[in-house]
Amino acid sequence: MPEETIFTKIINGDIPSKKVFEDDQCICIHDVSPQAPVHLLMIPRKPIPRLVDASPEDKALLGHLMIKIGEVARDLGIGDAFRVIMNNGANAGQTVFHLHFHIVAGANFDEHKMV
Ligand code: AMP
Repeated sequence: MPEETIFTKIINGDIPSKKVFEDDQCICIHDVSPQAPVHLLMIPRKPIPRLVDASPEDKALLGHLMIKIGEVARDLGIGDAFRVIMNNGANAGQTVFHLHFHIVAGANFDEHKMV
């Protein structure tokens, strides 16, 4: 079993978080160290360490996360301009090994455009 991450502790309610959404498959919280005026994390309850560790049985879950990211963004009024970032692996900047998607908005995207 992979070691329990801080996100599993948040999901289990052992560590507090600022939740914006949750359902039976995922939670969406404010990042504790925001890198933009809006910086959320969409996290599946299932502790998949990295995207490369996901398997075909996770297909519906990954689709669900994308749909919920869009809904949360729309509900928070950032539906017209937000960016979704997922770091896979330590060398790509991943620090918490429980799959998650960053949702960022309100920044000047022109200054930070990588792709
Ligand atoms: P990554 O570097 O892509 O793995 O992203 C991990 C993110 O988790 C970072 O942006 C951290 O600021 C964030 N983070 C770490 N601990 C917490 C916490 N307790 N509550 C909310 N966000 C956290």
